[in-house]
Amino acid sequence: MEIVILTAFPKIFDSYINESLFKRAVAKKLLKFKIVDLRAFATGKHKKIDDRPFGGGPGMVFKIEPIWRAISKIKNKKSKIKSRTILFSTRGKKLDSKIATRLSKYKQLILICGRYEGVDERVAENLADEEISIGDYVLSGGELPALTLSEAVARYLPGFLGKYESLEDIKGSYPVYTRPEEFSVGKKKLKVPEVLLSGDHKKIEEWRGR
Ligand code: SAH
Repeated sequence: MEIVILTAFPKIFDSYINESLFKRAVAKKLLKFKIVDLRAFATGKHKKIDDRPFGGGPGMVFKIEPIWRAISKIKNKKSKIKSRTILFSTRGKKLDSKIATRLSKYKQLILICGRYEGVDERVAENLADEEISIGDYVLSGGELPALTLSEAVARYLPGFLGKYESLEDIKGSYPVYTRPEEFSVGKKKLKVPEVLLSGDHKKIEEWRGR
């Protein structure tokens, strides 16, 4: 899978995607990231990617043109592959494991990160296939949503998870403990549930709700 991220802040991604699971997935060629600086697609004398909102109001709005130019270039080269373009928006569908599984079937995801007051609505209506929100709160930009979605989707790519991670859906998740069996905080002794030390796998599975 190729994940193309359109952003005004490309450096944000450097450290996160160069560590741990993403790093390994890229090395194994399971995953490829392409971080595209929207400013490289700005035109005009001032090379602007944003402008004031029509109708007034605070802040700046991302212009459609640089986004359109960036997407046209990306799609021209790879016109035949199964691709999905996603705009991050507070008004989008809320990301969950069902959406992540569905998106993991694409060969290419193009993720558009907004900033400031958001993105000219014509991008949502004409360039993006869907709008996604990662939760009911407002962030400063779509960069954290892009990383969040990338990781949620990548976990469903065969080979992404190693032996230290397991593909669990949210409902299959259970509390975990490790050494020591007992940990003292002042007078309080914090103990690991007895059943987990019992060696009785049937009981353990039951306790875990499996
Ligand atoms: N007034 C705008 C706020 C934009 S925040 C609005 O209500 O939509 C700037 C950008 O950050 C957005 O364009 C979007 O790309 C991203 N963003 C902020 N919060 C987000 C969230 N919860 N989920 C996904 N993207 C978000």
